[in-house]
Amino acid sequence: MLCGKKSMIEKIGAHRFEVGLDEKVALVGVPIARCSDCGNEEVTIPRMQQFFLVLAQAVAQKPERLTPKEIGFLRKHLELSNEDLAEVIGIHVENARKWQREKNTAGMTVPAERLLRALVLGHADAKELSATAIKKSKPFHSRFRSVKNHWKTETAKAI
Ligand SMILES: [Zn+2]
Repeated sequence: MLCGKKSMIEKIGAHRFEVGLDEKVALVGVPIARCSDCGNEEVTIPRMQQFFLVLAQAVAQKPERLTPKEIGFLRKHLELSNEDLAEVIGIHVENARKWQREKNTAGMTVPAERLLRALVLGHADAKELSATAIKKSKPFHSRFRSVKNHWKTETAKAI
């Protein structure tokens, strides 16, 4: 804790987590330690690497078109530079950059978008892709629950 006190109360709770998307994501079932002196809270995100994998897959499965931020998020999740992404998809690098600029997804076609999603989803059922990129672009909104040894995607609700 910031204040250095050791008197902490542990609880399991909910936390809004900044992940580099348009909105914070809601995490449920995470351990939160609260200092009984100053009230500072410290949240532990269990299995961080696994969480980001589950998050990237959930974004790749959303029915709405991706936002510029989400395109960048998925590109980074794949550990691709803009040049790499352009090469993989077979487009000019300036287009790859343009897709990730705020207010400018213009130009990314549905096939290019589904290819990006397919790379993230790996061996998932290919037919699932037909349910993606079919609705108007809207920022990703979902919540995730930490259970025993994995992360579960839940329908978004306010926390
Ligand atoms: Zn404190």
